[in-house]
Amino acid sequence: MTNLKNPSSPADGYRGRFAPSPTGPLHAGSLVAALGSWLDARQNQGKWLLRIEDLDTPRCIPGADQEIMRQLLACGLSWDEEPSWQSKHQERYQNALERLNQLQTIYPCTCSRQTIASALEAQGMITPRNQEIIYPGTCRPDEMKVNGMLHTSRVDIAWRLALPPNLSIEFEDLALGKEQQDLNRAVGDFVLRRRDGLFTYQLAVVVDDAEQGITHIVRGQDLLSNTARQIYLQKILGYPTPSYLHLPLVLDEHGEKLSKQTLATAIHTENEQQALNELCKAATHLGLRNLPDGNDISIAEWLLAATQAWSRKITSS
Ligand code: GLU
Ligand code: ZN
Repeated sequence: MTNLKNPSSPADGYRGRFAPSPTGPLHAGSLVAALGSWLDARQNQGKWLLRIEDLDTPRCIPGADQEIMRQLLACGLSWDEEPSWQSKHQERYQNALERLNQLQTIYPCTCSRQTIASALEAQGMITPRNQEIIYPGTCRPDEMKVNGMLHTSRVDIAWRLALPPNLSIEFEDLALGKEQQDLNRAVGDFVLRRRDGLFTYQLAVVVDDAEQGITHIVRGQDLLSNTARQIYLQKILGYPTPSYLHLPLVLDEHGEKLSKQTLATAIHTENEQQALNELCKAATHLGLRNLPDGNDISIAEWLLAATQAWSRKITSS
């Protein structure tokens, strides 16, 4: 990673977080995000919170949250404050949705994936696999004047956010520099509550980051393309925008991002030496130089050295 800029001073109440989805144990990629966010919080004498993002219940694996917590602790990555589980905070998300409804910025959508695909095809647009589907606005009312009937008894409807035209979001990423996204072109009116009734990642992450007073978000670059949506939601909900730092992704031998979907293997943390080996790999990936090699050193000592290396990296760029 090049050119880290981190102007935050220790005095300004730094609150960071690690927000894993419990879809499996930590793998090399998620450990990089955990370590990077932990080091940044420690270097800033800030707090590091753990939030389990378990809203997408069909994808969650029972017990994965406990396993992730065991792995983090085995690596010496301890959190401040009680961990939180998104599944316990449904009313928060519902309240945010109600507010957006009062602001007349959301509308109900009955489209299935198939209807959206056909509508896009009719407009001559094909969406390559694994790419964001840009919602063509099929269900959007001509004028966003009326409150959608949030309390309708129909269950199989999604709620989408109506984007104003020409919505370009710009932000400064502390690692990557200036970033910009045109939300209409990149995603279109995106979903805040799904047809199956589940609140989406975009809504929940924004509400929780605000509720928990998060000031600094350090996470993998796979989430970079979500950031503009989240900043826009923060703006309409009246929340402050935290600073963002996106970390380099760990790729497999085919150049694909490691994820639970590609069956990335769990990191080994059965004993201290294994945990140190995993930490060393993650640190190399973060571009930390001149670190102890993980032999004849305790995890606590190694983490202290890593925090200093992180600090050198940030202040030297
Ligand atoms: N839960 C998300 C994931 O595991 C991360 C959310 C975030 O850091 O914003 O990919
Ligand atoms: Zn629709």
